[in-house]
Amino acid sequence: MKQKRAFKYRVYPTPEQQHILARTFGCCRFVYNWALRQKMDAYFNEQQRLYCKDLSERLTELKKQEETCWLSEVSSVPLQQALRHLDKAFINFFEGRTPYPTFHKKRNKQSATYTSNAFIYKDGMITLAKMSEPLNIHWSRPLPEGVSPSSVTVSKDCANRYFISILVEADIAHLPVTEQTVGADLGLKSFVILSTGETIGNPKFFHQDEKKLAKAQRRHAKKQKRSKNRDKARLKVARIHARIADRRRDFSHKLSTRLIRENQTICVESLAVKNMVQNPTLSKAISDVGWSEFVSQLEYKAAWYGRNLVKIDRWYPSSKRCFDCGHILDSLTLDIRMWTCPECGVHHDRDINAAHNIHAVGLTVFEACGESVRPGAVKTKPGTTQRSRKPKK
Ligand SMILES: [Zn+2]
Repeated sequence: MKQKRAFKYRVYPTPEQQHILARTFGCCRFVYNWALRQKMDAYFNEQQRLYCKDLSERLTELKKQEETCWLSEVSSVPLQQALRHLDKAFINFFEGRTPYPTFHKKRNKQSATYTSNAFIYKDGMITLAKMSEPLNIHWSRPLPEGVSPSSVTVSKDCANRYFISILVEADIAHLPVTEQTVGADLGLKSFVILSTGETIGNPKFFHQDEKKLAKAQRRHAKKQKRSKNRDKARLKVARIHARIADRRRDFSHKLSTRLIRENQTICVESLAVKNMVQNPTLSKAISDVGWSEFVSQLEYKAAWYGRNLVKIDRWYPSSKRCFDCGHILDSLTLDIRMWTCPECGVHHDRDINAAHNIHAVGLTVFEACGESVRPGAVKTKPGTTQRSRKPKK
C-alpha cells in the first residue's frame, strides 16, 4: 500500500539562493497574513466565509496592484500553497486540534512549499523555481528508490538553519505480525513506563540544556534593544532551543520505532490539550508536549508498519484503579509514588500499575472492535490522521 512519507534533510543554500529564499519566505508570510486578515474581516464584518478558491482569485488581483506587484517576483506556487496552509490551519482549528490561527511573525520559523510543477528532481538533485543551481542537500539517508517527490517544503528555523522536507508516496512493507502487546503511560519521574515494568527516559536528560538556556536568556534580556549584540544573543538562545528540540525529537523517534518494532498492539493514554495548559508545573508541561509528539509518531508509524495503536481516553482512572482487583481509590495525589490497595492488599508502584491498566483496557477496546478495524488504524479517535479534509459548509 502506498503511504505518504516525509523525509527531512539539512540544506546549505548559496548566498544567491538564500536571497531568493528570503524573498519567497517573506512573500509567503505576507500572503498568509493577508489571507488571514481577509478571512477574519469577511467573517466578522459580513458573516461570510472565504475559501481557498475565493482567496486565490483575490490574490491574482492583489498581484496586479502597484503597491503589491512585488509578489510576482517570486514563484507563484509557494504563495498558493500558503493559502492552502491557512486552510489547513482552519480545519485543524475547527476539528479541535489547534488554537485559532494567528499571524506569522518574521522572527519565527519561515517556510515555503513547492509542488511538483515548481521544482525539478533529477539525478538525486532538487532545483527550485527561479533558481539556476540545484540545492546543496545533505542526504543523511537515501530517498526510497524510484519515487518522485510530490512536494517539497524549504524552511529556515530561528537558529538560521535551512531544511528541506520532501514528501513522497512510497511502498512501506508491513512488519511481520508478532504476538507481543504493550501498554505505555506518561510518567512523572520517567518519560514512559511500560506495562512490562520498564521505565524509559529521565526528564533530567534535558536538565543541563535547560540551565544553559536560562543563562543565555538572562544575557539576551540585558542587551540593549535593537543592538547587534542583542541579535547575537537572540541567536544563541535560538540555537539552544533548537538543540533541546532536536534531542527530544531524536529520543522520541528512537523509542517510538522500538515500540512499533517489538509490539503488534500498543495502548497509550491520550492527552487532552486542556490538561496540558492547566497543569501548573513546568517540567510536567514539557513532558506533556513531548508526549503528544511521541503519540503522533506512534500513530503514523503504526499505520506504515501494520501495527495497532489504541488510545485510551484521559478520564479512564488508570492511576487510581487497582490492577489486581479493580478497586478504585477516591483520590491519589501526585506525590504518592507507592500505594497499597485497601481491598486486596497488593502493594503498587503508581506508574507501573497505571501502565498495566492502560494495557488491559486497551486490549479490551481493541478486541471489542474486532476485525472491523484495519491494522494500523487508531481506535478511539477516527479521522485525525487524514491529510486533508474539506471544511464543512
Ligand atoms: Zn486491589
